Amino acid sequence: MATTKISKHISYKEGVRSDTATRNRIRNEPDEKQLAAMKELAKKVFEPLRTHFNEPIRINSFFRSVALNKRIGGSGTSQHCKGEAVDIDATNGITNKQLFDYIKDNLEFDQLIWEFGTTKNPDWVHVSYKTSKPNRNMVLKAVKGGNPVYQVITPGKVIEEEEETPREKKKSRKGVVAVKTKLNVRKKPSKEAKVVGQLKNSKKIKIISENNGWYQIKTSKYSGWVSNKYVKVK
Ligand SMILES: [Zn+2]
Repeated sequence: MATTKISKHISYKEGVRSDTATRNRIRNEPDEKQLAAMKELAKKVFEPLRTHFNEPIRINSFFRSVALNKRIGGSGTSQHCKGEAVDIDATNGITNKQLFDYIKDNLEFDQLIWEFGTTKNPDWVHVSYKTSKPNRNMVLKAVKGGNPVYQVITPGKVIEEEEETPREKKKSRKGVVAVKTKLNVRKKPSKEAKVVGQLKNSKKIKIISENNGWYQIKTSKYSGWVSNKYVKVK
């Protein structure tokens, strides 16, 4: 089973990856039914989204076994435990809001969650898809300190609490922009790549990954790549 791909752009490894599981030696392998649910979600939601934007979309968390979900403070009934939910993050100049809006307006889903963040952009997007029951096309927003935290924003629906768990902490670093003029944020790690934004000197940024002299970064406004020559890492 370990060699099965979830879909064209999702490897099995990406589908089950979890730092918490690795660290705590928690088994995180879907059974056949859960794997089938993951494949269906990938086919109906992830791949159409991937095709539309034609850019990589990061899988933050897909399948989580009950033991793993409990370990990160969630319940055993989360749709992640059934292989029916995935947490995704945009890359290469696409924003999470764009992912969220495209799913909301074009695709069938069970629950779509704007996960925290600001009014302009969520920290990440949670989306679920059910194969067994009708999909509810329910849109929710996670509000820090909200009561309940998950609030239904589909018009005409009452507010109710939903099962979700905090995202696992990723190892990102903090940096500060150090330039005389402005620092270009590019779509890809190359001087020839399209500029998607500019950052001022001393702007604080989050460094997600590194590639050949470039940092993949994130600010409240942009995600993309900057030359590492102009960033001081804290
Ligand atoms: Zn989620």
